[in-house]
Amino acid sequence: MSADSPLSFADALIAWQRRCGRHDLPWQQDADPYRVWVSEIMLQQTQVVTVIPYFERFMQRFPNVQSLAEAPLDEVLGLWSGLGYYARGRNLHKAAQQLMREFAGQFPADQQQLMTLPGIGRSTAAAIAAFCFGQRTAICDGNVRRVLARYAGIAGYYGEAAVGERFWTLAESLLPQASVDIYTQAIMDLGATVCTRSQPRCGVCPVQGACVALREGRVAELPTPKPRKALPEKLSRILLAHDGPWVLLERRPAEGLWGGLWSLPEIPADLDAAAFAACLPGLRLMPVQGGYGDVVPSSPQSQEAEALVGLRHTFSHYHVFLEPWRVAVRRVPGCAEAGPWVWVAAHELTEAPLPAPVRRILQEQWQPLFA
Ligand code: SF4
Repeated sequence: MSADSPLSFADALIAWQRRCGRHDLPWQQDADPYRVWVSEIMLQQTQVVTVIPYFERFMQRFPNVQSLAEAPLDEVLGLWSGLGYYARGRNLHKAAQQLMREFAGQFPADQQQLMTLPGIGRSTAAAIAAFCFGQRTAICDGNVRRVLARYAGIAGYYGEAAVGERFWTLAESLLPQASVDIYTQAIMDLGATVCTRSQPRCGVCPVQGACVALREGRVAELPTPKPRKALPEKLSRILLAHDGPWVLLERRPAEGLWGGLWSLPEIPADLDAAAFAACLPGLRLMPVQGGYGDVVPSSPQSQEAEALVGLRHTFSHYHVFLEPWRVAVRRVPGCAEAGPWVWVAAHELTEAPLPAPVRRILQEQWQPLFA
């Protein structure tokens, strides 16, 4: 395609997709809206190669809307564990229940109705409507915005309303009259495989002849990144209280950070680890024994708690340094699990819905003791 070519942007992309696009992704087997929906949600913020094994495990366990709606949230989050951005998993579960309740388990074909489901925004709804129902709707996710910003030379951060509107208007104006499903896949594929964030392969791009950024030497500066703010740093001390090969975890509230996941409880700022453990129901402290792998020497803070190796984790709005403290405890016999507390055995960690950094701490520094 050249600047004065009669071939439209959409025609060039559709022809390119047929020749060079991706045709064998597991969610492309058919136009089943359930599979397309789950894949679209998993692909938000996550690369295709990471998503594929999660997608396949998810489909094996939850092959349709009904099985997902009827599953316990813990099990859904257990299969999501490691993908991050857990609100996506919680919203999938909620949306499946809403689909059963309000739409008899069937996906609506209309973009606006799809957007009433939790976690489905304008782009995701458009992708489902285009792929599964042949609707003429535009997507404008991160990969697509990168292509459009370069192709049309759009500067400015997408999060600013006026700039965002320019992207949507352009995305809609470029839609073809037919084969919207192939076009949608094409623009996604182009962003993911050719017009990549770094080192785009302009030499094989089907729209190189009309690309403003390429012509003006602005490829590296577009799209305009989000203005940077230094993220604040936080410290979070977390308690690894264990009775031999059983560790005490806390179910986090359904909403908020790591909502619905099982985590090591956070130690309040005004308590040391042992004092906090002593406050928890149904535990009796035991002196910490030596010889626990990579632990660092006991802190003078407490004779009964031992600092393990911490790690830094980055959320979208801040960094946190997780500082784990190990305390050996005995469960008081007859004291049932109650409230948010749950005891998990070392061999059950793989199935448990844990946040990725907590899983790493447990798997590297605690689980091997009981292998
Ligand atoms: Fe992206 Fe290069 Fe194609 Fe322009 S020519 S759309 S910068 S890959």
